[in-house]
Amino acid sequence: MTNRRVLISGASVAGPALAFWLHRYGFTPTVVERAPELRDGGYAVDFRGASLRVLDRMGLRGAVEAAATRMGDVTYVDGDDRPLVVTPSTYQSGELEILRGDLSRILYDATKDDTEYVFGDSITGITEHGDGVAVTFAHGEPREFDLVIGADGLHSNVRSLVFGDEREFRHDLGYYVSICTVPNHLGLDHTGRFYNEPNRTVGVYSARDNNEAKVMFWFGADRLDHDHRDVEQQRRIVEERFAGVGWETTALLDAMRAAPDFYFDSASQIKLGSYARGRVALVGDAAYCAAPLSGMGTSLAVVGAYVLAGELASASHETAFAAYEREMRPFVDACQKLAEGNGKWFVPPTRAWLKFRNLNYKLLPYLPWRKLIEELPLKAGNAITLKPYAGAPV
Ligand SMILES: Cc1cc2nc3c(=O)[nH]c(=O)nc-3n(C[C@H](O)[C@H](O)[C@H](O)COP(=O)(O)OP(=O)(O)OC[C@H]3O[C@@H](n4cnc5c(N)ncnc54)[C@H](O)[C@@H]3O)c2cc1C
Repeated sequence: MTNRRVLISGASVAGPALAFWLHRYGFTPTVVERAPELRDGGYAVDFRGASLRVLDRMGLRGAVEAAATRMGDVTYVDGDDRPLVVTPSTYQSGELEILRGDLSRILYDATKDDTEYVFGDSITGITEHGDGVAVTFAHGEPREFDLVIGADGLHSNVRSLVFGDEREFRHDLGYYVSICTVPNHLGLDHTGRFYNEPNRTVGVYSARDNNEAKVMFWFGADRLDHDHRDVEQQRRIVEERFAGVGWETTALLDAMRAAPDFYFDSASQIKLGSYARGRVALVGDAAYCAAPLSGMGTSLAVVGAYVLAGELASASHETAFAAYEREMRPFVDACQKLAEGNGKWFVPPTRAWLKFRNLNYKLLPYLPWRKLIEELPLKAGNAITLKPYAGAPV
């Protein structure tokens, strides 16, 4: 086999999942992760459709189920915390839901004995030559690899180095989201409580067996000029956007100030003409981020890793990268399309829309097209037929 040494940038979901399969096929994967250690915690992510079959083939479904959030319904409330409408768990939590950090830990534990992990470093240069790639790092010594794969998320470093500026490929959907861990002061028991005002959604759900909660702040806005590294500035943006918003919002903003973690970003998609260039390819959010509004990012990352590794085990990298793209493209399109339609439902722009949304959710159990609507995410999650790659259990 050629192309044995594969460098993967990013140790979240797509990176370790790819390392899992590459090792299974006889490759030697190395994963470089910018964070000083595995990033624990994080928000809830879910599995739907084909990704569950990949988990089965990895033999990891049981481990993911054991760590699942077991989330129940989400209740939309008014300013006095009175229930307006209840949505079933499948709307938010898919078929199987887990905290992103817990999933990373499971994938890391399943690969760490056979994969070299380098934490606290980042690729600074990628130079392709006749039969390999010379890679330089911010801290480590330069090294030679046969292939480099970017699994480093929405703001992928590998993509910037090889494909070009992020602005060429990033499509903002017109929403921003912030999420952090707070005390479960509402006493939620495996449930969520969401509150809306026009263009703003505040949602809280319990996590880690109700020992903590995650609070999400969503708002609609055109592109903001904010500094990705300036967390203080981002906290202020959230505070300004949610100043005067009712329900529990003031207490939740205070809790955000004291939170041990903090995430803030635009809801954006990545759309690339090609997922590979020469000996470099992208997987997961780096290649085809679908945005949190789709609920499909984890499925795409896990399935993408399975397909990319399977194709690389079957052919030269040129043929494999082309096949990977052919297999993934319709699945990616279906998952990204889902997000484009979800924004107004999740962050209603006006009072009229808000009323319309709540009425729809209320009437949905009685509407003849209920099944059609409820099955949309499942349809997207199954918009790929998994090939039985040699060496992968079916
Ligand atoms: C608020 C929110 C809610 C979400 N909800 C859901 C959901 O309900 N369902 C769902 O399926 N998906 C959801 N997602 C999306 C999901 O988290 C992603 O699609 C998924 O994590 C993609 O995995 P990934 O490994 O491709 O990228 P990421 O998880 O983004 O990981 C990228 C990794 O690369 C590392 N990295 C970055 N830069 C460098 C560098 N220069 N060098 C080395 N490493 C680097 C990062 O530290 C990180 O570990 C949500 C996302 C957000 C933000």
